[in-house]
Amino acid sequence: MACLPVPYPDELLYSVIARYGVHSGITSPKQLLDDVFQNRKIIASVAFQGHLSQISIHYQGNADLTPCKLLQAHTLFPLYSSFVHPDITEHAKHELLSDCRHSAEVQLGKAASKVKSPYYLRYCPLCVGAQVKQYGEAFWARRWQLPGLSVCAEHGMYLIGSPVLISEVHRHQFIALSPHVLLHSSPRLTTKKVAMLAAYAQQLLNLPEQRIHSLQWSCFYYQLAKQLGFVRRKRVEHNLIANLVLGYWGAHTLASFSLSISKVDENNWLRCLFRKHRKSFSYLQHLIVWQACYEQQLDLAEILFEVSQLPQSHYDDVPAHIEPVIVDQVRRTEWQHVVAKFGVKGARNQGFAGLYIWLYRHDKQWLMQFNQDSVRPSIVKINKVDWPCRDKKYVKQLISLINEVETQLDSDRHTVTWLVTHASIPLSQIKHLEKLPLCKLFFEKYCESIEEYQCRRIALACIDSLKKYEQLKAWRIERIAGLSKERTRPIVSQLLGYAVKYEAS
Ligand SMILES: [Zn+2]
Repeated sequence: MACLPVPYPDELLYSVIARYGVHSGITSPKQLLDDVFQNRKIIASVAFQGHLSQISIHYQGNADLTPCKLLQAHTLFPLYSSFVHPDITEHAKHELLSDCRHSAEVQLGKAASKVKSPYYLRYCPLCVGAQVKQYGEAFWARRWQLPGLSVCAEHGMYLIGSPVLISEVHRHQFIALSPHVLLHSSPRLTTKKVAMLAAYAQQLLNLPEQRIHSLQWSCFYYQLAKQLGFVRRKRVEHNLIANLVLGYWGAHTLASFSLSISKVDENNWLRCLFRKHRKSFSYLQHLIVWQACYEQQLDLAEILFEVSQLPQSHYDDVPAHIEPVIVDQVRRTEWQHVVAKFGVKGARNQGFAGLYIWLYRHDKQWLMQFNQDSVRPSIVKINKVDWPCRDKKYVKQLISLINEVETQLDSDRHTVTWLVTHASIPLSQIKHLEKLPLCKLFFEKYCESIEEYQCRRIALACIDSLKKYEQLKAWRIERIAGLSKERTRPIVSQLLGYAVKYEAS
């Protein structure tokens, strides 16, 4: 019996067998297969190493290394098991545990997935350094081989592709992570959001499997859309969901996961995810949406458990899940703050969807009341005031006023205030002159300057004098017009001079 090394935490079984080869000095792949499986036709699999019962025998009843535990902790099985039909999961599991040829890659959807698995085994040089320091040797970790994600969650670095090709050619070979497969390239830092996503994926690897039916997934996503306020008359508003997910990740990052979202495509993967589930989706599609919706408040274990508890019926018939009411003043204040800044709809697209969902679930009555109160004034403001219409109405009133007073020379100076009050327009409206372009033009044309007003008074005084057959004297006209030499503007004095001279001649 081969003395297989005990797997390190998060080590792939593929790596354990490869290490056994190194430790035993076995250089022939066939001899390695003979030693471990007594069968030269066994296929080496990075994601789903099969024949687990046989491997487990080498551990001689170690309770931590039963076939099921090996599957759960040392293969990529947990990345798939909760997202495909329970019967399929069960079947794939049975094949992997027993001593038979398995088709897990096809059954669990890995082979046909939109999210592609890596072609080469990958590693994080910083993790490798830590492994060597802690264990004295390096090994292939599971978390480096996730489909679609090429990031180390521990270090927030992009992974480096090793020269070890995962292909049919090497299907009977287990290749260890030894110094000669390490490349000398310096790792690059990834973004905070992508590092967080990698951390969530790592969490998922360590969660127990939940049996979830596709109807339960359909139901969960319908409720999620509802909690986000993206369901109108029972219809999911897919564009708003796309805005949320695209806004959070950006098109470039989604493309890097091979998960672009085309809003014009009626059957883009995001729309399908929020429709009735006809096929299963990759762990990465689920995580991308959850992180965009819940951000830091995402609790994978809670979601998986909750979905597994949903009834397996059509989602329209499902009563909303009632959560206990929790009053969290800090969350309430935070929501008030972000709504003041972005508005209710905007806040959900600015990374606060998670907060919204939390409040929706635990403090719905307060949330709905607060949101309603926050939305109402702006609706009133937008709907009630039709400025162009108001502008036309006011300018008509002003024109009829000016037609009336143009020939009345004895009115007060025609200032904006005088015109507005005499045209029966509320004085407060003058503050919004930039929204009333016609009125503004009117005031520019008809408001009197001091000179114009003084001229009008001189004319009026002249008419008055002439009516009384009085001689036009400068002093008399000035007195009647209420003007003094000091206050009279130069152009007005000139006019007065002409008037007096004209009358005298
Ligand atoms: Zn690392």
